[in-house]
Amino acid sequence: MIALKLSDPDMFRETSFIAGEWVSADSGAALDVDDPASQAVIGTVPDCGVVETERAVAAAQTAFGPWRALPAADRSAVLERWHTLVLDNIADLALIMTAEQGKPLAEAEGEIRYAATFIKWFAEEGRRASGYDVTPPEPNRRVLVMKEPVGVAAAITPWNFPAAMITRKCAPALAAGCPVIVKPSELTPYTALALARLAERAGLPRGVMNVVTGRPTDIGSVLTGSPIVRKLSFTGSTRIGRLLMQQCADTVKRTSMELGGNAPLIVFDDADVDLAVASTMASKFRNSGQACVCANRILVQDGIYDLFAEKLARAVSGLRVGPGDRDGTTVGPLINVAAADKVNAHIDDALSKGARLYASGDNPMNGARFVTPVILAGANPDMRVASEETFGPVAPLFRFGSEDEAIELANATEYGLASYFYTENLHRAFRVAERLEAGMIALNTGSLAMEMAPFGGVKLSGVGREGGRAGIEEYLETKAFHIGGLKL
Ligand code: NAP
Repeated sequence: MIALKLSDPDMFRETSFIAGEWVSADSGAALDVDDPASQAVIGTVPDCGVVETERAVAAAQTAFGPWRALPAADRSAVLERWHTLVLDNIADLALIMTAEQGKPLAEAEGEIRYAATFIKWFAEEGRRASGYDVTPPEPNRRVLVMKEPVGVAAAITPWNFPAAMITRKCAPALAAGCPVIVKPSELTPYTALALARLAERAGLPRGVMNVVTGRPTDIGSVLTGSPIVRKLSFTGSTRIGRLLMQQCADTVKRTSMELGGNAPLIVFDDADVDLAVASTMASKFRNSGQACVCANRILVQDGIYDLFAEKLARAVSGLRVGPGDRDGTTVGPLINVAAADKVNAHIDDALSKGARLYASGDNPMNGARFVTPVILAGANPDMRVASEETFGPVAPLFRFGSEDEAIELANATEYGLASYFYTENLHRAFRVAERLEAGMIALNTGSLAMEMAPFGGVKLSGVGREGGRAGIEEYLETKAFHIGGLKL
């Protein structure tokens, strides 16, 4: 029983948070939530639908006026208190996340810390969100450009980062003056509910933040179809993102879409090989490979291929698969059996098309969701690992000769979220960075997600940016105020 392990059992909420109340579904129906490691049910959440979501939308609409009218500094103060409470409760939040999502506890704590940075950042950005004035065309005229909250915002979030995807959307929305309705993944609702509990304790007024749990289609149809909801921010698959964009078309809603990826990681002959190996490990195997920015294809130049593969193999053989709450686990279970089946199918497909199993991690687990981390040598563009997001602990190595070939291979995807590359050559660094088609480029590092930098993709990886200065703009409307006939 997860609640028993928490120092504050009140953090484990099995009800939705609508209009400032902790509620069940009107029908009383509930959905089971399981622990990916043990597959045991850890609790239930309300199976809400259209009616409950409409209630959340109405509550957010009522809350909008007073919330936007507050001075930005007052909204910021609530966010600052929320930030403090999140950090104060980090151990409980991590336990909840590991129980529902499966990632190792240390990674869960890392994600909570990362999630908290967005609250802090946007508490500060909210105070700086302001318009500007334009040089007028005539002496008796002024033009002011004003920034206003877009209105009620909706956030639909995935299971792979159950805390960060909530705060990366809610914190800028709240700072800008927009109430939010969150639909977390039905696989990982408890982290979102715990965060909402802390926001409530921080003093967020009734209806300003709502978390509606349940099946996605009904909740999604209200959030996308309602004329009251003026903004939808979605993180998830490209398939669902497309569908939601279509559903938002009738009400011409603003949308931010953080969608799938197929990140290339390129290691040039002149790379610092130890740095490349260390950051490939971080970029490839964090969250068991279940991150949109995970390196999906590892492209290695001829001259360094054998050395890089050998060093990477040594690092991968040190990985240990296990439940997230067991000491020594570095790779947790995948989220469900379907996810594990897909990863295994990618491995089988690659092996059947000529790839070679080059190295693997230590996997003492039997369960179907525990996938052994592997390196596949000799990968080629005909394999599924080349064109599809694997979302698992599989590192396929593709060999290339020239810089041009690397760029061509890297860009040969319909996605464009993150790209990584390793070189010590400054000229090459600029050449390659400017030719890679991605919203985020990382040179000689495996990390690019941080609160102060814009995060997002191009091509089928989405539209809009989260984090950085751009993050709050997604929740602000621009209004031009023209004043004529001034008697000056
Ligand atoms: P998903 O299946 O698209 O689900 C994402 C969210 O959409 C979940 O809350 C899901 O609910 C909901 N949803 C599903 N069908 C819906 C519908 N018809 N109407 C309304 N909502 C609906 O994606 P996922 O498997 O959870 O997440 C993995 C994907 O997210 C990967 O492709 C990954 O690359 C991407 N991702 C992108 C970023 C980024 O910033 N670009 C970050 C993280 C993940 P249920 O879970 O309850 O079904």
